[in-house]
Amino acid sequence: FRGLEEQGLFLNAAQIQAVRHGEGPLLTLAGAGSGKTSVLVSRSGHLIAAGGADPGSILLVTFSSKAAAEMKERIRALPGIRNREAEQVTARTFHSFFLYILRTRGYRQEILSNTRHQQFIVKRILREMGLADRYEAETLLSLWSAYRLNMAGLDELPASTPAEVETRQVFARYETWKEEHGQMDFDDILVWAHRLLQNDQPLLHSLQRRFRYVMVDEFQDTGLLPYELIRMLVKPHRNLMVVGDDDQTIYSFNGARHEFILHFDQAFPGARVITLDINYRSLSSIVGLGNEIIQHNQLRRPKTLQSTRKSDQVPLYLRPNDPDEEASLLLSSIQESVNENRRPYGDYCILYRTSHNSRAIFEQLVLAGLPFIHYEQNDLFYEQWMVKPVMEHLRLSLDRRNFQALGGILPTLYINRERGMEHILQQDTPRPKKGPLSHLLTFPGLKDFQIEQVRERSKLIKSLKLMEPAEAIREIRVRFYDKFMEADRGKDLTLHKEFIQEGLDELEASAKRFKDIPSFLAFVDALIEVHGDMMHRKKDEHADAIKLMTIHKSKGLEFPVVCLIGASDGILPHTSALQAAQRDDSRPLTAREQKGDEALEEERRLAYVAVTRARDELIISSPGYYRGRKMEVSRFLQSVFHIKAQPESGDGRTGSGGPAASDGAGRRWALQRTDAAAPAAGRRGAKPAGRGAAQASTAPVTPQRAPAEPVRAWVCSGAGCRGWQRM
Ligand code: ATP
Ligand code: MG
Repeated sequence: FRGLEEQGLFLNAAQIQAVRHGEGPLLTLAGAGSGKTSVLVSRSGHLIAAGGADPGSILLVTFSSKAAAEMKERIRALPGIRNREAEQVTARTFHSFFLYILRTRGYRQEILSNTRHQQFIVKRILREMGLADRYEAETLLSLWSAYRLNMAGLDELPASTPAEVETRQVFARYETWKEEHGQMDFDDILVWAHRLLQNDQPLLHSLQRRFRYVMVDEFQDTGLLPYELIRMLVKPHRNLMVVGDDDQTIYSFNGARHEFILHFDQAFPGARVITLDINYRSLSSIVGLGNEIIQHNQLRRPKTLQSTRKSDQVPLYLRPNDPDEEASLLLSSIQESVNENRRPYGDYCILYRTSHNSRAIFEQLVLAGLPFIHYEQNDLFYEQWMVKPVMEHLRLSLDRRNFQALGGILPTLYINRERGMEHILQQDTPRPKKGPLSHLLTFPGLKDFQIEQVRERSKLIKSLKLMEPAEAIREIRVRFYDKFMEADRGKDLTLHKEFIQEGLDELEASAKRFKDIPSFLAFVDALIEVHGDMMHRKKDEHADAIKLMTIHKSKGLEFPVVCLIGASDGILPHTSALQAAQRDDSRPLTAREQKGDEALEEERRLAYVAVTRARDELIISSPGYYRGRKMEVSRFLQSVFHIKAQPESGDGRTGSGGPAASDGAGRRWALQRTDAAAPAAGRRGAKPAGRGAAQASTAPVTPQRAPAEPVRAWVCSGAGCRGWQRM
């Protein structure tokens, strides 16, 4: 290990054991930042350099291509490993590895990797089946994907209700479409590879001989199908090393089954288990916070991470009034440290629960012209499928001859888009017809109910003109749009409905900032333009830019500064998990409630993953209002800091002045002031917000506990942690 040491990486005893492990199954179960990925990489090097293993016999599998590329890079940098040898090591994602195998066996299908393309196909199938207004393509696709990753075929799907029968037919037609068009989607890669390996024994045997050492990173998020594939590969030699952290299972909705990691020793009897419990990534205060958050989960192997990086710097806690204030507070703080040359933009990563949560921060980044990389491939918020039709109604209220907008609202009138447009464009003569919007939209062949819809809608659009934008959006929603979007989409799809409602609530909240529709639309158009330019520029991973991603995408990565936004109850944990977890304690749990608990635990794991991505600085922010609703501080933080709401008279929204920050609901939170006990926060000079309740809310993540309890800080030394201490 001398070479590693020269590079400053002094492996600890447990890490060395794992790196030196020769043959047989090995599970390394360890907390965040404890060197799991580092150990996988070092073991590859050790197998080659010390064990004389053929580099071509090593297979490393992980989840994202970014992680796979990083592994490869780290292997190249290993001491004592020649470039040629590093090249021969296989480090890939599950999908790219099994696709490679399919390709070598003559599978030539094109990959249908663009989700939008998939949705387009499913939408068409739904239209052909007359089900377009009953199901959402995106939801059906993810449902089908979950089934397939759990190895359920079409024949095994439930078919007892009409909705189940219909969805099954949709899946069948989607499969046929792919077959007829020579396409395969991402799940097909694994499904087909499984079939291939089952049927082609010589191929399986040659792979088993070739890949003598198999290692899987992020094992906690492995679903049934990838797990089975790996089990087939290692069957004769059982040289499987998996590393993972049961506390970081965050893909249950995608079929990840963290019992695989909890029961690994049963599947591979005699497996060696090595635990790593020292975190090398983060400052001690961050590690301590992670520990405190995750220990409230029941379904886990108990473990407490220790830290090596003692520091008196503590995480910074913000309590802005709403996401727009959150964004401006955060960005001005980032801008300030960049201006003072304390940090480059590239040190910052902003994490959030769902893509909707990035609306405000994204807008302000665009408008301020700061460099950033947005890892979502999504459309701009205002152009998303659930938001766009509402925007089109606003546009039409200003200009009824906006043909694009007319086309956009046709589906909401149950009018075929192509046919409708054909008719509308025919009327687009140099001297357009005068008269109300309904004339433009009414044409021969419409059914009575459509004519009625058109008439109603024209009236509605006309009435919007004089309203404030938020009011107009509300009107559109109340009059028809919410119901339209809620049309029966099958009983399992409630989660999706929520996602839609959330998007619309977010739109309304965003529009509240504008007094009239023209200024709101002008703002959105400016955004669309900048966003369009941005999409044309290539993403440069190495650019000095602020990174924005969902917590899910941040798995396995680390950043000097992490900003976790939206740490409020209802955002993180997500409302869906909260609702599922609501229950009456006086009776035994129903299956659904049990699920609710699990959902809440998964949310807590998300919080844990987010916090543990930070190396040096962590900023957590809990907006007091979200989409017009007041929000408590995330329960995951409340349980750590024992934050208690203190009822107080008066309107909390209009600033508090004192050391208490308002929760925006007429109550105040007792929070530790920045200047009181946080030298680090003070040094960072985070600016108090210029207005309202956030004025006093820039505080470290050590809000005052209940009166008798001291403010705590995690104090660790190289010799081990000494526990929570009085600061
Ligand atoms: P995650 O759970 O987030 O995937 P991990 O367990 O895979 O984390 P790594 O990414 O391997 O952890 O390591 C975290 C950080 O700690 C890296 O920056 C790595 O270089 C560093 N590290 C790991 N082991 C040591 C060590 N023995 N000495 C110094 N630094 C180390
Ligand atoms: Mg890792």
